[in-house]
Amino acid sequence: MFAALSDKLDLVFKKLRGQGVMTEDNVKDALREVRLALLEADVNFKVVKDFIEKVRTRAVGTEVLQSLAPGQQVIKIVHDELVLLMGGGEDNSLDLAAKPPVAIMLVGLQGAGKTTSCGKLAKYLKAQRKKPLLVPADVYRPAAIEQLKVLGRQLDIEVFDSLATQKPLDICREALRYATLNGFDVIIYDTAGRHQIDDYLMEELEGIRDELAPREILFVADAMTGQEAVNVAQGFNDRLGITGVVLTKLDGDAKGGAALSIKAVTGKPVKFVGLGEKLDALDVFHADRLVSRILGMGDVLTLIEKAQASFDEKETERMQQKMKKSGGQFDLEDFRNQLQQIKKMGSLESIMNLIPGMGKAMKQMQGAQPSEKELKRIEAIIDSMTAKERANHTIINGSRRLRIAKGSGTSVQEVNQLLKRFTEAQKVVKQLQKMGPKGLMKGMKG
Ligand code: GDP
Repeated sequence: MFAALSDKLDLVFKKLRGQGVMTEDNVKDALREVRLALLEADVNFKVVKDFIEKVRTRAVGTEVLQSLAPGQQVIKIVHDELVLLMGGGEDNSLDLAAKPPVAIMLVGLQGAGKTTSCGKLAKYLKAQRKKPLLVPADVYRPAAIEQLKVLGRQLDIEVFDSLATQKPLDICREALRYATLNGFDVIIYDTAGRHQIDDYLMEELEGIRDELAPREILFVADAMTGQEAVNVAQGFNDRLGITGVVLTKLDGDAKGGAALSIKAVTGKPVKFVGLGEKLDALDVFHADRLVSRILGMGDVLTLIEKAQASFDEKETERMQQKMKKSGGQFDLEDFRNQLQQIKKMGSLESIMNLIPGMGKAMKQMQGAQPSEKELKRIEAIIDSMTAKERANHTIINGSRRLRIAKGSGTSVQEVNQLLKRFTEAQKVVKQLQKMGPKGLMKGMKG
């Protein structure tokens, strides 16, 4: 989905991820590339402009530039703003809160996928234990009525018996009476389309809307037509006041422009997306999931959020202060606290799996990373030490090692291994402290 856009953003993000320090200029450069990628994906020009401005304002804040992973933070801002752009966080569900039968009217240009979407929607509602009635009110396209009847038979959902010789408004009126008498919960009107907006069609649709007061007027938009779909949506919205959008053909090679701009331009949310010709290829629209797919980020965002939520700032602060004072000295107690922080984020395996490619890489380098079990063992060993031993590991002689091994249900060898690892870690930290923050950056870049 949206392959070209995905690839371009991926390139920008690759560069960003590697940034240990960042300046306003770095952010500007990255956003220039994001802007181009969006324009090439046929996103509305004004929408792109507003979007970039929002991201820029948030991204050049000191909080981001001075954070530990500024590049990663900028990516998160782009992600969050894209979600907002597409109406994420708002309630996009169908409004069925009215006396049944609740009417839903589908409108749009010919070929957008109206009739197919009517069938998909009826199937979706049936699965929610509703009793929908499908109403073919497109008397102009010769095969439209028959097409809906065929869909109804496939789905075992009743289709109102209309004739191409009837007036659309008459069909809808009769269908409503029929649905009321026969206990239908929802009534879905499949209306006529044209190749482009024309007055005659709009008047006809206005007539149906005025008399039947549908709870939802869903504009069916073909995602493949990009900005054109957005313009047409705006035209329909101006005349009819649509309540939402069904965005079809997202399974094709749409560039993404319609999906990314239709909400911002019309103010109306995408409620469903069509992902294929089959009747089950309809999804309730979730802006966040679509954005994650566009950005190809796996669940990195969940990971960042988890880290933000679970890292105890006070503990991190305490540790930093202590390191500063002691010139890099830390003891086994600190070592254990840090381990606990990592553990709070969830199981180590599950964290690794959230990072794209990491789960696989972990499996390939068996043993290079401490496993969940190993972490538990390390903790058990440290727990079996006395406070004195944790504060000063050099007093842990042979007999103490034996006692600790017994207490933690491990072996002396494992206790030795942990102490060795710990002293190595101490050495590294001391080295880093000596280099200072600037030296550290140099060290990382080199
Ligand atoms: P209408 O004129 O608006 O009623 O459009 P139709 O429902 O007849 O659909 C036009 C064509 O688009 C048909 O060939 C459908 O199978 C196809 N179509 C509709 N929705 C989708 C979708 O989400 N994905 C794909 N690939 N094709 C779709």
